Amino acid sequence: MLGKPLALLAAAVPLLLPAAQSFPVEKITPSVSVVRGPVNGVLIERNHGVLAIYGDPREQPAKARMVLFTHHRRDVAWAGRLQTEWGAEAVAPETEKAQFTDVARFWERYRTARFHDYANQSSRILANPIPLARTVRNGDTIVWQNLTIQVLETPGYTRGAVSYLLEIDGKRVACVGDLIYGDGRILDLFSLQDAIPQVQEDGYHGWAARAGDVVQSLRKISQWKPDVLIPARGPVIYSPGHAIDTLTRRLQAAFASHFAIDALRWYRGDDKIRAMAQRVLGPTPVHWMPTAETIREKLPKWIIPISNSRLIVSRTRAAFLVDCGDPRVLKEVRRLRQEGVIKQLDGIYITHYHDDHSDIAQAAADEFHCPISFCQEMRDILEHPEAYRMPCLTPNAIHSIQAMNNGASQRWNEFEFTYSYFPGQTIYHGGLVAKNDNGQTIFFVGDSFTPTGMDDYCLLNRNFMPPEKGFLDCLRAIQKMSGDYLLINEHVPPAFRFSPKQLEFMIERFTERGKLFADLVPWDDPNFALDDQWARYYPYTAEAAVGGSVELKVILRNHSASQQEFRVTPHVPPGWRIGRGPLVVSVPPRQERSVGIPITVGTSGLKIVTADVAFGAWDLPEWIEAMVTVKQ
Ligand SMILES: [Zn+2]
Repeated sequence: MLGKPLALLAAAVPLLLPAAQSFPVEKITPSVSVVRGPVNGVLIERNHGVLAIYGDPREQPAKARMVLFTHHRRDVAWAGRLQTEWGAEAVAPETEKAQFTDVARFWERYRTARFHDYANQSSRILANPIPLARTVRNGDTIVWQNLTIQVLETPGYTRGAVSYLLEIDGKRVACVGDLIYGDGRILDLFSLQDAIPQVQEDGYHGWAARAGDVVQSLRKISQWKPDVLIPARGPVIYSPGHAIDTLTRRLQAAFASHFAIDALRWYRGDDKIRAMAQRVLGPTPVHWMPTAETIREKLPKWIIPISNSRLIVSRTRAAFLVDCGDPRVLKEVRRLRQEGVIKQLDGIYITHYHDDHSDIAQAAADEFHCPISFCQEMRDILEHPEAYRMPCLTPNAIHSIQAMNNGASQRWNEFEFTYSYFPGQTIYHGGLVAKNDNGQTIFFVGDSFTPTGMDDYCLLNRNFMPPEKGFLDCLRAIQKMSGDYLLINEHVPPAFRFSPKQLEFMIERFTERGKLFADLVPWDDPNFALDDQWARYYPYTAEAAVGGSVELKVILRNHSASQQEFRVTPHVPPGWRIGRGPLVVSVPPRQERSVGIPITVGTSGLKIVTADVAFGAWDLPEWIEAMVTVKQ
């Protein structure tokens, strides 16, 4: 059993599905029609034969000779599965071949690769393979019934995505996958996180990096002068030029806003940030915030920096450690004790759940017989990291728990410690104010800020826009500080302080960003497009004996301003049984609810359980997954 439930358990009611879903069919040309389902089914009819692009979302799809996939994502490729099983030849990009055919290897690797994950690519990978008849590359043509379809590489929503271009019935039609949504939007931002090899940057630090590819790919599409764009999801676009210009402009505005107050500029320098921003902004310069005006290289005597930890040493020679992820920290604390600089370690505080702050905290607590404290909101992810699918996750659970409520304070020798929930770099993040009796105050802000701004460059970390808790609350918490205080981010050697003007600058940029994001994405609240985990299975991994059972929860965070009825339809491997069918879960605005799904498992091996999630007009088949290992 896994800890306390994270979210209130909702009273879920079984969903009575309508007898048959009927999706509208939109005629584009005499021989091209689009079945407007959760994924668009583009059907091209010639001499009584059908070629499908993306597939056909209907329960009884049209029988097709060929299905063309633009990319591998599970939440889209499902639409072509049945047609392929019925004999259609499946065609997909060569560069994404493994994500169609070799998915078992991905999942096997992902058992361990999901820990210490700095690549942060989508795990919406097929649960079961789709065999391919042919793979295609940029410049290839597909000839079917005298119709020639051009293949254009259009990376962006995924690394290896292609578009299919065809001239038919006097119209130029481009099927562009998820490159664009509606009149100038994109489905989400978290899918765009990636490395930037041109500037030697890894996936963790590449905020929406594939937006650069989206812009380039849209430009190529635009140069082909299409009359109609048919994306994989969302409405058919009849004014391609306007939609592409609008999306490009909106992405540029979002990039300008992000890089203006980006913490990464401190670590990487102006030139590299310029190069990263240019990929979307072109020659337009970023108007960034001047670097924090107060920077103190020399820390107060009572703070000893060790790697990305800080040791607070009291007059009594008792010590208190802030963060513990690097084995060198433990070595150094041992050495300091042997040399009599400190006499004991009284406690360890963890700012956030990332491996570089938590990996060896439990080992240190065991060795020094001390508790580990952190904010209440981090408790579950520290006790059960394996239950989450998040960046930089440690496999090492913590059990020497001292969870602190927001605002709790504690006397420790000549210090007053005040603990807070500080949802900056991630929502699983706390802050610690240590005030010395002589008035010196240090605010340990974890990784949330550097002298150049806010650390929100990894979209998978779950940073929310207001009114959800997030960076705005952190900025306001810093604004409330008074006296001669300094901020410490343990990756930044000096301590620093923002001026009131800089805090205002960040608050203004961040607030206007809410509007920019709202324009950029199609959801009623942009947090759905920023939060890869608004719907998730909990725990992410589970184990059971052959024929045994597991209970998974589906946790739903409703970022919307209104109450939503979420419809959840779990899918299990053949031979498994689900205790409850499709369910409806009511979630009040900006709250979280969960629903339990009892599952009886079948034969041994690693299996992927998925679920469709739908609410309002959104229907997202195979949106979430959990990994279940069945043991002999
Ligand atoms: Zn860190």
